Amino acid sequence: MSDFSGDIDPTTGRNGKIYCANCKHCKLVSTPADSPNEYYLRVRCDAGKWKKKLGGEKYYKYFTVTRRSIEYCDAYEPMGEVKDFIRDLKRTLPIKDETYGPATL
Ligand code: SF4
Repeated sequence: MSDFSGDIDPTTGRNGKIYCANCKHCKLVSTPADSPNEYYLRVRCDAGKWKKKLGGEKYYKYFTVTRRSIEYCDAYEPMGEVKDFIRDLKRTLPIKDETYGPATL
């Protein structure tokens, strides 16, 4: 089942909504976890569009990144064809917030 409806412009991804995950301002960052040497993955908008209600920058959990869609953004800069990108991203995202750490041998 597809999440997409209507015609999508393959470059802009506009079909009534745009996906932040396909924007070059959507950046993957790490934040420290409770355990030393472990971290979480978060996404941020480096155009400064994601704000907390009381001010400050809002970060979102990486596994939710495909849920970040909006009707319009004046800073949207698409990275390419959106439909296949979002579909592949949904397949590869973790299903929950996970911690990452140094590789163990
Ligand atoms: S610039 Fe706009 S479209 Fe791009 S990540 Fe930020 S809020 Fe999303």
